[in-house]
Amino acid sequence: MEIKFMKTRHLKYIFARYYKKPSIYEPPEFDKREFAFVYFENPDSMQRHMGFSSLEELIMHIEQKIPRHIYYSSAIYEYPSAVNMNEKEWLGAELVFDIDVDHIDTPCKKLHDRWICLDCGANGWGLAPQACYKCGSERIRKETWVCETCISVAKDESLKLIDFLISDFGFRKNELLIVFSGHRGFHIHIYNEKILELNQEARREIADYVRGIGINYKMFIPVKGSLIKPYNPDFWDPAWLGRVSRALYNLFTSINLEENLKKIGIADRAIKKISSLKQEIIKKLEEKPPNWNYLSKVIDENTWEIIFHKVAEEEGAKIDERVTIDIKRLIRLPGSLHGKTGMKVSKIDYHGLENFDIRKHAVVFAENPVKVDIKNPPQKILDVLLEAKKGVVKVPYYIYVYLLANGAEVRMIKSTS
Ligand SMILES: [Zn+2]
Ligand SMILES: [Zn+2]
Repeated sequence: MEIKFMKTRHLKYIFARYYKKPSIYEPPEFDKREFAFVYFENPDSMQRHMGFSSLEELIMHIEQKIPRHIYYSSAIYEYPSAVNMNEKEWLGAELVFDIDVDHIDTPCKKLHDRWICLDCGANGWGLAPQACYKCGSERIRKETWVCETCISVAKDESLKLIDFLISDFGFRKNELLIVFSGHRGFHIHIYNEKILELNQEARREIADYVRGIGINYKMFIPVKGSLIKPYNPDFWDPAWLGRVSRALYNLFTSINLEENLKKIGIADRAIKKISSLKQEIIKKLEEKPPNWNYLSKVIDENTWEIIFHKVAEEEGAKIDERVTIDIKRLIRLPGSLHGKTGMKVSKIDYHGLENFDIRKHAVVFAENPVKVDIKNPPQKILDVLLEAKKGVVKVPYYIYVYLLANGAEVRMIKSTS
């Protein structure tokens, strides 16, 4: 207990160094936002319903209290500091998207995530199961870390999302606030008169659209006996029409077509048939417009259903829809530090997202190596491979801060710079 207390105090001291000169983001309608904090002294409770009249006043509060986590409301309120939600008088909310690799099974998770069953002690590396495979218990404790591969996956999903927002919805690049969350992903905010007052249902429709929910093969290609008139899309059609046709073309022309079909769960008999007709299918797809009639005749409905399910999943953006439909969400404030990593919640532009670099955009602490004694480290954290399974290892100082913030059993031996 004593050690944990010392570590927390040490981390607060480290955060205080950053908060001497923070570049805190000032959201529009600043004085109509609710702010919320988690302080080092009281890690299990969030102090919310706070309002500030100016950025200076907020920064003064931050410098004085050195919070571990800082949030602000995506909503604007007439009375943001009213304690009762109904008395705040909601005026509108940004449209917010959250992309977090926590929900995505990245290949690197077995290098840095692990879980343990609190009932029987079974444990393993990688994405934690819903229930323990040995005893069925759902009391599972997870230890998760983020590495540059995770962030790169999140970046690709974010770029996919932005393509929907710009190409399909017509938002402009400069209307998007793109933020690295300081942990496992990105937040994308849109502050725009037109979306401010959208209700939850409207936001759910937007979320479903970018996720590809409700995409039905009968809407796209002709199916015998179907009452829906299909679009028969072409490759350069806008929105999902183009996305679906290009994805199908990529699938059927892929070199390891059989393997790809097997991976998504197509029956062996159907794979054999498609594979034997591959050249003919490609030829018909390359007709102008693509000859969907031919394809729908040689591929059965069941197979189409599976293929379209996969296309929607792959082409859709993997957002956390709960965040998008929530019109009273608290979200991390750009410019603050993430209390579990010590990285900066950083506002970046589109170019910055395309070329996202943890060290350039999110690391605020020193890179000089320090010697640490660490028990059971993950194999990879951010851009650093930890070779020692146990014992003493040299890591950049910012990795030490991350280890400390995420609760690793770590102790600095001495600085070697
Ligand atoms: Zn178990
Ligand atoms: Zn990773």
